[in-house]
Amino acid sequence: MSLEIANLNVSIDRIAILRDIDLTIPTGQMAGLIGHNGAGKTTLIRAIMGLLPATSGSIRFKGEELTQLAPHRRAKLQISYMPEDRRLIPELTVTENLLMPAWANHISDGEKRLAWVYSLMPEIADFGERKALQLSGGQQKLVALGRALIPGRELILLDEPFEGVAPVLAQRLTSVIGDLRGEGLTVLIAESDDSHSAGLVDQTWRIERGAVAFGRKAPAAPASHQHPA
Ligand code: ATP
Repeated sequence: MSLEIANLNVSIDRIAILRDIDLTIPTGQMAGLIGHNGAGKTTLIRAIMGLLPATSGSIRFKGEELTQLAPHRRAKLQISYMPEDRRLIPELTVTENLLMPAWANHISDGEKRLAWVYSLMPEIADFGERKALQLSGGQQKLVALGRALIPGRELILLDEPFEGVAPVLAQRLTSVIGDLRGEGLTVLIAESDDSHSAGLVDQTWRIERGAVAFGRKAPAAPASHQHPA
């Protein structure tokens, strides 16, 4: 199992935001995390990254407990995320933006990883010397995905990757994310509905008001609620 979350609770300013989250993703699989705005998707991703502390419960990655590990130690385990907003540095070139996490995390084979990202998305290699501010919003999303892939070659958490992306670019993003399966990554895709992720994922978890409403572990619906055959 790659990611195993058990009884996870997260509070912000003493308000319980995530409640008893149980969620697992097997190694090399893709999972969807579906929920309305405010359901808690970003909070869960930030808790996995160590950007928010867990109040209680466990987050294990490949058997290792993460909850007491600082964010940079989690990054060393090759866990990474793509935030909902692109957060590129506008004045830096695409290549510099991509290499930034390698510099920040003292990754010695950054150039090799950059070549890998460019092989997955040759179109961003074409504008590698352009400043990020010169790119369209969709192009920036591709670069943001590439930037997340530089430090995260084991587990990548994508926070609403398709949000605000024009249909052609969304199709391209879907295809690139699909290619990550062949690269052996474990992937979590947060989305408000499953319109893009449905065709990609092995399993879907729905989160409502900070709790898992259904997922692989959820019990089957009672017989009385099932439609007649
Ligand atoms: P969205 O796509 O709108 O970000 P989401 O499912 O990712 O939705 P979260 O951003 O995780 O949801 O927010 C979950 C809940 O936590 C919301 O009710 C939100 O108002 C609350 N929340 C998030 N961050 C904070 C904060 N810093 N202070 C107080 N409440 C917060």
